[in-house]
Amino acid sequence: MQVGNLNMRLETNLNIPFYDIKSSHDPIQEELNEAIQSTFESTQYILGPQVEIFEDEFSKYCGAKNGIGVASGTDALHIALRACGIGEGDEVITVSHTFIATALAISWTGAKPVFIDVDPRTYNLNPLLLKNALSKRTKAIIPVHLYGQPVDIDSILKFAKKNGLKVIEDACQAHGARYKQKRVGSFGDAACFSFYPSKNLGGIGDGGMIVTNNDEVAARARRLRNYGQSSKYKHDDPGYNSRLDSIQAAVLRVKLRYLDDWNERRRKIAHLYTEALRDIKKVTTPFINENVESAFHLYVVLYSQRDKLITSLSQMGIGTGLHYPIPIHLQRAFSYLEISKGALPVSESIADTCVSLPMSPQLKDEDCLKVCEAISNLV
Ligand SMILES: *Cc1c(COP(=O)(O)O)cnc(C)c1O
Repeated sequence: MQVGNLNMRLETNLNIPFYDIKSSHDPIQEELNEAIQSTFESTQYILGPQVEIFEDEFSKYCGAKNGIGVASGTDALHIALRACGIGEGDEVITVSHTFIATALAISWTGAKPVFIDVDPRTYNLNPLLLKNALSKRTKAIIPVHLYGQPVDIDSILKFAKKNGLKVIEDACQAHGARYKQKRVGSFGDAACFSFYPSKNLGGIGDGGMIVTNNDEVAARARRLRNYGQSSKYKHDDPGYNSRLDSIQAAVLRVKLRYLDDWNERRRKIAHLYTEALRDIKKVTTPFINENVESAFHLYVVLYSQRDKLITSLSQMGIGTGLHYPIPIHLQRAFSYLEISKGALPVSESIADTCVSLPMSPQLKDEDCLKVCEAISNLV
């Protein structure tokens, strides 16, 4: 009896994970092993040549002059804010519909996050709402290239310039994405990337990077990540210990060579999904602006009975994700801001209805179509 049931279940299990790291490493395992082994033998484990070379390679890739490797994407945001002079008493405008780290980094500096709603089509920061959030204390904007789609950066930069604000891009989901042919990372005063394992460019542990064309911001960020040290035992800022490991840099250098191919594959999968889901009117597929090329970190659809759909897909062996189910202004960690439900209706509605479908460069066309078929049978 037991065995029979088990077999039945295995037969209907489509076994399509939400994201599959192992299958992205398998084809390049030998190169990765070599990079790891030689870094191990070098005995230079913190900063050192692997990190310097990777900082150079990655900042060039983004079209920016300087790269500063740090311990995580959250640290990149925090250090970039501080390097841009943001601190106690300041206000930073950002979105509530993002990963919590965007707002945490602002609060770590002592500044106050000021949330504005997102565009109902792109789910990204709505530049038309910036003026409502502006105050005498506003010092910076953090636009988030969410799900890999670049924000409307021209409008944001124009507003920032007019009002003397810094712009720090949260590009943690958008390695390699383009806005008007140019990669994200070189538009603002600084841009921040995460190398968390499941990001488009991910390490085998935590890691992050600040890229910037501003040499002063770069020098300050470089000090801040290393105890505020300007030269050995000379400390100009109360800084942090937030450095990129050599072993992560070595792994990331190998994977950077594949990033463009992987992103191209992600766009292909996104196209397949959108085509296959086109006739299912109850499911809203992503809208991509015509002047951008998304890195499709995530493929997120909206559906009114999201929770039921997730349960049913899971029973069929299809993994999904939620990005993100609770907007930051409604999180207890930020209850001190006293923002009530209903304040950001677009963000709240996306949080209630979003589902992230399986997405990784290794996802097969046939599996992508099976996911769409399952959805069409369920909704
Ligand atoms: C992942 C992520 C971060 C934080 O990066 P960590 O490396 O996990 O600290 C920040 N912002 C966004 C939008 C992210 O997706």
